[in-house]
Amino acid sequence: ETGFETFADVLRRHAAARPDAPALTFRDRTQSFAALDEASSRTANALAARGVRPGDRVAVLSKNRPEIYELIYACNKIGAVLAALNWRLSSREIGLILADCEASLIIVDDTGAGLLALEPGLPVVRFGPEFDAMRSAAAQRDPGFAGAADDTALILYTSGTTGLPKGVMLSNRGMSYTRDLAKSWGMTERSVNLVAMPLFHIGGCGYGSSTMLAGGHTVLMEAVEIDEMLRLISRYRVTHTFLVPAVVQTLLNAEGVRSADLSSLELLMYGAAPMGDVLLRRAMDVLGCRFMHAYGMTESSGTVVILAPESHDPGGPRSGLLKSCGRALPWVELRVVDAASGEDAPMGEIGEIWLRTPMTMRGYWHNEVATREAITPEGWFRTGDAAYLDEEGHVFLFDRFKDMIISGGENIYPAEIENVLNGHPAVAEVGVIGVPHEKWGETPLAVVVRKPGQSTSADELIAYTRANLATYKCPSRIAFADSLPRNASGKLLKHEMRKTYGAAS
Ligand code: ATP
Ligand code: MG
Repeated sequence: ETGFETFADVLRRHAAARPDAPALTFRDRTQSFAALDEASSRTANALAARGVRPGDRVAVLSKNRPEIYELIYACNKIGAVLAALNWRLSSREIGLILADCEASLIIVDDTGAGLLALEPGLPVVRFGPEFDAMRSAAAQRDPGFAGAADDTALILYTSGTTGLPKGVMLSNRGMSYTRDLAKSWGMTERSVNLVAMPLFHIGGCGYGSSTMLAGGHTVLMEAVEIDEMLRLISRYRVTHTFLVPAVVQTLLNAEGVRSADLSSLELLMYGAAPMGDVLLRRAMDVLGCRFMHAYGMTESSGTVVILAPESHDPGGPRSGLLKSCGRALPWVELRVVDAASGEDAPMGEIGEIWLRTPMTMRGYWHNEVATREAITPEGWFRTGDAAYLDEEGHVFLFDRFKDMIISGGENIYPAEIENVLNGHPAVAEVGVIGVPHEKWGETPLAVVVRKPGQSTSADELIAYTRANLATYKCPSRIAFADSLPRNASGKLLKHEMRKTYGAAS
């Protein structure tokens, strides 16, 4: 790969080479690379004038808006660390995170302001007139801080799927691979990327920056809204987008998708949560573009494994690959490790995915104990995800070990049952958890949201799983619900489901 560049270096390069090219569009207003470069320099100087020094944290708590990109570059230009926080958390959780990250100041939109305590204990700047005035009062000259590869560029908190979110320190080096990822995704200066993922998440921040780093055009959405998404795709001739499975499903069920002009779409990336092959095949059928699967996590600065479009041949002899999330990228070493022995699991057998790559985080912020548990002395990051490998290095992902159900001594991965039930025509959404069982220890319980107007019974659904799965994996009970608890990345909050349904058996 070509030499190391920070995010700010890449922005400067594009601003110099193609100053007037469109960089970023939000609410139908477009900023050029030169304008974004200048705005981020002014914001950098404004932050420095407020006392922000290299290594200091600047927090942002806001729905998606273009100034968040500006802040990523601005912090980079003065060696500060942007901590992007999740506005979907509760105000109590935000309080805990703010105490943890010890930011010099926090920048908020109205939503973020509503989440702050009455006395947040740090200076607060509001997006809008206050932020704009702060920026325009500052000098335009690029402060030109030379970021080192090992400096922390960002702190992003994990999705909190398995507990309280952990602050992940991402380095300039780790994030710089986003530029190389953009190449494997086929992004060029002519690409147009629709970013609907939240920017406080690695999917939004990392993947969402990739087109910009390739010199292409980024169209940002405040949040997922299907009709607006369809309008933006045709209005800006969007070529690339990343969607989580829950959004793909909503998109396919939307009225407008059949009549929308999606002819510009070249590549749809999906990942972040299990995407069943049933849903995938339907999406490929309806959307007609190329597809790419991405597997990664906050701790690895984003995507580390991809299933290329060439491997998405639905009718071909290798259609079994649709169940795989693909192969490790060239700069990623990947092992599947047997928990008991600590050795590589035999080919085809399930173990834990371990990763060694320059994209690995520097560590968890303020949590050396968790860092030492997560990263071995040899530099392997333990993902907690269960998978097996085939001879060609394809990764077949099951689920998180934490969500695995042990029933009568057999390991059951909820994602497998969810995948089957998602294929039933009456099922809109489903989540599977383990509940206590007198004889088997644990047994799977499926919580199902039926499509409107459907009255399919529990017995029917259980019979359907029996026809498609080994008996020991079939849920013995189905509960019906109006909705399932999900976090901002569309992941099922199993710990909340366990609280609601766990006791009943
Ligand atoms: P927390 O660590 O706080 O519990 P989280 O693990 O959900 O939350 P992220 O870093 O956003 O936080 O998500 C990474 C995890 O998401 C991976 O470890 C994996 O379990 C899951 N994941 C990522 N990509 C995929 C994918 N393509 N298919 C299935 N699961 C995926
Ligand atoms: Mg995690």
